[in-house]
Amino acid sequence: MATLKPAGAAFGHMETEEIERLAVLGAGTMGHGIAEVAALAGYEVSLRDIEEELVEEGYDEIEWSLRKLAENDAISEDDREAALERITPVVDLETAVADADVVIEAIVEDMDIKKQVYGELDELAPEPTIFASNTSSLSVTELSETTDRAEQFCGMHFFNPPVRMELVEVIRGGHTSDETLDAVEGLAESLAKTPVRVRKDEPGFVVNRVLVPLMNEACWLVEADEATIAEVDSTAKYGLNLPMGAFELGDQVGNDVTLHVLRYMESVLGAAYEPSPMLVRAVENDKHGRKTGEGFYDYEDGGVDVPPDEGRDDVEARLLAVMANEVGKLQQKDIAPVEEVDRAVKLGGGFPDGPARMADDAGLASLVETLEAAHEATGGARYEVSEGLRAAAADGGFYPEDGDEEVAFDTLRLEYPSDRVARVVLDRPHQLNTVTPEMLAEFEAAVDRVEADDEVRALVVAGEGDQAFSAGADAAGMAGDADAAQAVALSRDGQAAWGRLEELAVPVVAAVDGFALGGGMELAACADMRVASERSTFGQPERDLGILPGWGGTQRLTAIIGEGRAREVVLTGDHYDPETMADYGFVNEVVPAEDLTETALDLAEDLAAGPPLAQEYIKRAFLAGRDDTEAGLEVEAQAFGHVVTSEDFLEGVSKMGSDEEPEFEGK
Ligand code: NAD
Repeated sequence: MATLKPAGAAFGHMETEEIERLAVLGAGTMGHGIAEVAALAGYEVSLRDIEEELVEEGYDEIEWSLRKLAENDAISEDDREAALERITPVVDLETAVADADVVIEAIVEDMDIKKQVYGELDELAPEPTIFASNTSSLSVTELSETTDRAEQFCGMHFFNPPVRMELVEVIRGGHTSDETLDAVEGLAESLAKTPVRVRKDEPGFVVNRVLVPLMNEACWLVEADEATIAEVDSTAKYGLNLPMGAFELGDQVGNDVTLHVLRYMESVLGAAYEPSPMLVRAVENDKHGRKTGEGFYDYEDGGVDVPPDEGRDDVEARLLAVMANEVGKLQQKDIAPVEEVDRAVKLGGGFPDGPARMADDAGLASLVETLEAAHEATGGARYEVSEGLRAAAADGGFYPEDGDEEVAFDTLRLEYPSDRVARVVLDRPHQLNTVTPEMLAEFEAAVDRVEADDEVRALVVAGEGDQAFSAGADAAGMAGDADAAQAVALSRDGQAAWGRLEELAVPVVAAVDGFALGGGMELAACADMRVASERSTFGQPERDLGILPGWGGTQRLTAIIGEGRAREVVLTGDHYDPETMADYGFVNEVVPAEDLTETALDLAEDLAAGPPLAQEYIKRAFLAGRDDTEAGLEVEAQAFGHVVTSEDFLEGVSKMGSDEEPEFEGK
């Protein structure tokens, strides 16, 4: 069957693989960060601003940031130099875009200025060049219509700072072609970012669509004397476990920016987004937040002070209900599926759990009631229950399938050995339960289900068969065509997937029978306790392959056995018997193989009988008390990306399982 070309697609289309050169317009906060990320990923980048001095400032910022990354060993000295060499600062627009495959525009947030630049750009850039705008709050469709290549135009919304934030929202404008979206999402991935597709061009896209109404609602609550700032922020931070209070977040984002986005939302989407007078006053009084020294908090006098114990259930219900209502609207307009909304808000807003999942946990029916009560009391359009939320409530949740008992996964099983205990069994026994990217994703999905199920009070993690708990990552599948950016992403994915066990509110027991090597041992390290059969073998043998542990091994092991022993395990790559691991403090109990399952379940039952709230806080307190594991994990991920592309890794993999010792050259 013949395929019809979309109207106007006269130039053919660009594939991700064809993208080699980028032009980044605007060398400010976002532009210089995006250019740095692109250069680190191997792209040639022209960085353009309107004056020599501005481009130089941006370039200096990149130089500084790259130096910091190198000092922290996140990148090598060679990588630093190479990245810097790939960036060409320019002022002349024609030179900047003459041979660019993609132009990423990050200039001032002003519709008229952007339109004028796109008008010029359209004349100067080659015909196949894709235009991607980093705008936060302007219509991608309207911008695209100033060019003759609206189908090659989309939004590419990075988060600040681009070097650290993993999320990129890729926005379909009214005319964007699928090919353009695919190419730009592929580009985001090769920048080691996680793209989330926003299917329609609506204000706030996904992340701000949830966060901005949250900040607005915080203001409305205080404005109406329903709560104090301390109560709202205490609720958000310690009740909902958000990374910071709603007012704290507002001050960080900038109240002027929040107000600007809200006004745009109000103009396009209606009265539900009317800014709270409290927010308007803050902006009128130049209380823009951290950047002006004062916002809702005074940064020259005490700064943020969120009390841990002033949270209120009714405030929690209100904040959650407002976010759930937005998720409902995103569903009803088909802007992004719930899983993607949750993923985006977790990555872009640092939420421990997505808003849809949190709303499901609270119960959508009760959130609908909360909104209805608020609507009745105030008449505020912002409390009108969206059709999408009503539909999800009628279905039993944004994730209605969670009610099903049987869950089909390919690489693992999720079982319920008792009413209170769930068990995840890695199920690739013929491959020693080695871990594939699919298994990582399924593992997270299984933990999601455990998390959403209030009945479950403890979790056991085990491996199928009598050979292995898990012999680690499927390394052979990675060697050869590995690419540094993909390896960094894989490292982060594994760190995050296993880390879910640390964040899970209920206690986790790892039941180890056979090999717990590499990624397998890193998984066991994320459990709260470990029981092992006498025939088990532990180790972090990555160094034998010329690489390093990439799923937390350089960080989390230390918290259990101390840095001295952790260095020994990771640097020697030796195999350890379970008794030694028990001496080191890694294994809590060693039992005959035939008793393992029962011992692990008994222990899990014991833990399940404990006080859920106290246990959740115990886990959280241990985690919070660690030193800066996040910084360590980031160094680990970057280093993993680096070594996976080394010749040593190829050498290591080629000698894997043979009697020959690998000869490493440090290349
Ligand atoms: P910024 O003010 O730090 O930088 C903007 C830069 O654009 C300035 O250096 C300015 O000289 C330059 N510029 C102005 N007119 C230009 C022109 N005609 N041609 C080329 N350059 C021009 O702003 P920013 O915070 O980096 O924001 C840039 C874009 O990114 C905006 O669209 C904004 O909405 C978006 N954004 C910002 C953030 C954030 O947190 N700051 C996050 C996501 C997206």
